Amino acid sequence: MVCIVCGRPTGRTWLCNTCRTPYQRVWVIGEREGVLQRLVGLYKFSRAKAAYKDIGDLLLAVLPELPGNTVIVTVPTVYGHIRERGYDHMLLIANYVAKKRNLKCQRLIGRKTDTKQRQSTAIQRAKQAKSAFEIRGKIDSDKIYLLIDDVVTTGATIKYAAKALRDAGAKNVWVAVVARQVLK
Ligand SMILES: [Zn+2]
Repeated sequence: MVCIVCGRPTGRTWLCNTCRTPYQRVWVIGEREGVLQRLVGLYKFSRAKAAYKDIGDLLLAVLPELPGNTVIVTVPTVYGHIRERGYDHMLLIANYVAKKRNLKCQRLIGRKTDTKQRQSTAIQRAKQAKSAFEIRGKIDSDKIYLLIDDVVTTGATIKYAAKALRDAGAKNVWVAVVARQVLK
């Protein structure tokens, strides 16, 4: 495995010892390549709505037993993408995982700006991510917030989504990601 922030080999975790992040633990299904790349592509861009169960099952397989006070939260999808697709792809997965594990799923994070990211450069994306999120709901510092996202590239989006939760009072923020995009 490699660190999702710096890409250095880590052994058995997705976070190295030196990267400082607003979240404490990370699970990733795998690199965005091969079968996983195809599955994510179909699900995100080809309206293969039913694939949420397949991706959800893969996530369930990499996640350990989660404490009962874990709340599943999604990184919000840009509204335009939901409209194009006809469904909120990460919310479907989050609800599925929550149901299977008997946990709550809450839509706690909203987007302040609705800028499309697909064509942006890495620097633009990082800038947008920094001020993109706001918390819409009550944060309980005793709970664990498990943030679910589809693809991690630079880690900026997940970092600022986690930071928004921390700034609102969350102490424990964990992260589960479908695929890690290797920067080329
Ligand atoms: Zn690192």
